[in-house]
Amino acid sequence: NRRIVLARRPVGMPVPEDFRLENGPVPEPEAGEMLCRTLYLSVDPYMRGRMNDGPSYAPGVGLGEVMVGGSVSRVVSSRLDGYAPGDLVAGFNGWQDYALSNGERIRRVDPAVAPPQAFLGTLGMTGLTAYVGLLDIADPQPGETVAVAAAAGAVGSMVVQFAALRGCRVVAIAGSADKCAYARDELGADVALDYHDLHFPEALEAACPQGIDVYFENVGGAVLEAVLPLLNLGARVPVCGQIAHYNDTAPATGPDRLPRFVMSVLARRLRVQGFIVGDHLGRLADFNRDVGQWLREGRIHHREDVVDGLENAPEAFIDLLRGGNLGKRLIRVAPE
Ligand code: NDP
Repeated sequence: NRRIVLARRPVGMPVPEDFRLENGPVPEPEAGEMLCRTLYLSVDPYMRGRMNDGPSYAPGVGLGEVMVGGSVSRVVSSRLDGYAPGDLVAGFNGWQDYALSNGERIRRVDPAVAPPQAFLGTLGMTGLTAYVGLLDIADPQPGETVAVAAAAGAVGSMVVQFAALRGCRVVAIAGSADKCAYARDELGADVALDYHDLHFPEALEAACPQGIDVYFENVGGAVLEAVLPLLNLGARVPVCGQIAHYNDTAPATGPDRLPRFVMSVLARRLRVQGFIVGDHLGRLADFNRDVGQWLREGRIHHREDVVDGLENAPEAFIDLLRGGNLGKRLIRVAPE
């Protein structure tokens, strides 16, 4: 049983030496447990936070412990009622070949609905994040302008499409020409802009002649700076992520922009709401119904960015933090 453990806590951007590949025996299930073979692992930005020691919304991974993460697995043997060898399940088995489960935080995977790995992306955690953040928290109305960054990534690609389905004008922001083309041509964004461009703030202003009604905040940094002056009266800002800052080692230097930001919240009556997808599992049934239907009807596209081999998970994760992925990044650990 190969497993990837946290070898040390990173400072700034993680490096491969922060992880260690170990090998051990495959565990045997006891009464009330099942043994699961990992097929796919989800690679997610939140894992950077779990590598830290400090307080957060979820406890960090201990040194020498298996890296956390969502998984799709096949049941190998079971002493747990309701599960039999061959069943497909989605859970949080972490970066390892095999794991025991007592059935907690396990979802059944129905391969008739979609390929199993879709339950880590479009029909999984990142899809639900887009669904709750955009549709519940921001509740965009037809004709409103919705801006979203990391728009070619797992969450952002769903936000673009859900907003387009609602009849919004969608302004996608992403880190390369390829990603912008994908957001525009395949996901249906009205405009797509690369935030690395020298004149990005001016281009964003030109792309939003009616201002911005919803900013789905995935990144922070330079994108947030450019968006802030364009937010309309009563704009909604679901705060989903801050990936531009996950590797920060010190507070930013320069003028203190916080008072100006809070003044904007007041003067423009902005609604800025942080959320964590795990608090919204009560929406799973509606999410499964709606997104399952949109997928069946061909109204949404999903693209996966699959890296082969458990041993490549650390590099695939570091590369994701640098923007190397297009679509939902996954690790294929074993053939189905
Ligand atoms: P993605 O598939 O979008 O991958 C991450 C992307 O972030 C990269 O591809 C890169 O795209 C972008 N990025 C990296 N650095 C920067 C930067 N400095 N400025 C702008 N963009 C950057 O990941 P996810 O869809 O899984 O996650 C997107 C965001 O949503 C993250 O912030 C994540 O933490 C958050 N999240 C929050 C959840 C919640 O419950 N609140 C649940 C799930 C995700 P590019 O090339 O376009 O820069």
